[in-house]
Amino acid sequence: MPRASERWGRGKRIWIKRDDLTGSVLSGNKVRKLEFIAAYALDNDYATLVTCGGVQSNHCRATALVAARLGLGCHLVLRSDDDSTALTGNFLLDQLAGASFEILPAKGWGRNLQNRYESLVAEFESSGKKPLMIPTGGSDSLGIWGYIAAAEELQSDLIANHIDRVAVTLATGSAGTQTGLTAGVALFGLPFEVIGYAVCDDQHWFNARVQADWRESVARWAQLPDLPLAPVTRDHSVGPGYGKATPDVYELIAELTRLEGVVLDPVYTAKGFKGVIEDIEDGFYDAVDDIVFIHTGGVFGIFAHSDAFGAAVAG
Ligand SMILES: *Cc1c(COP(=O)(O)O)cnc(C)c1O
Repeated sequence: MPRASERWGRGKRIWIKRDDLTGSVLSGNKVRKLEFIAAYALDNDYATLVTCGGVQSNHCRATALVAARLGLGCHLVLRSDDDSTALTGNFLLDQLAGASFEILPAKGWGRNLQNRYESLVAEFESSGKKPLMIPTGGSDSLGIWGYIAAAEELQSDLIANHIDRVAVTLATGSAGTQTGLTAGVALFGLPFEVIGYAVCDDQHWFNARVQADWRESVARWAQLPDLPLAPVTRDHSVGPGYGKATPDVYELIAELTRLEGVVLDPVYTAKGFKGVIEDIEDGFYDAVDDIVFIHTGGVFGIFAHSDAFGAAVAG
């Protein structure tokens, strides 16, 4: 991104890996995970994909569309974060795709979700629609393969573009993308570090989560050697919390769109990109010449935030 590099790069080149272009409505990082999750569902005679997330979850929307594409059923357990259930953005696409859904309050979500998942298995099985229960973000030992494969693809991108001393950066939310890439770097012995920018929780939570998901994957798949992983998470650009952004995030979205025609979202990618810019300023990337930011998608999330863009697009 030449103009973004000039604006924020301080002599470094900032690149973008367009995982927001893995499809049009079926787009973003969740598609890479669902490629493996959906194949598993088809191979093992599952009839329904069940998953969960916020009302505006990109993962839920991608799952609903994958299910429709493959002729599978889809059921979503959605969390109403700010009681906002307006029929817009991802939530509208879920319903266009014919997914059934239920909405649980944010309060008590973790425990209620677990209970609900247990009863849903029984309900779908008794009606003969065998459900594959997919966790938040598709971040599990099936979804991990999507970003292990993406790490290999990224390495060929770097070689093709003669990019050597590089850091690979991304927004991290349920840690599956970060786990897959970090594992891919270890498995293929790739010469770069993967830096996740938290959009919720903190770096300790993410580093532990990456390790836990990796151990689960190593235990499940004989193909995966038990290599040590060294996840790196930055947590200074979380802001007020998951799904909540400050005015500078909306302004950053507007500025990058004007400069490069690339649209970030306020929940994940703009927070991640903001963290990268701040780290460039602070010298965190002094050892590299190039930075690759993985655009993980999420464009439909902007529509549920349209009121917050007022000042960023004015004049
Ligand atoms: C889900 C998501 C992320 C985070 O990916 P995880 O694998 O859940 O950490 C980043 N960006 C966007 C747009 C997403 O939808």
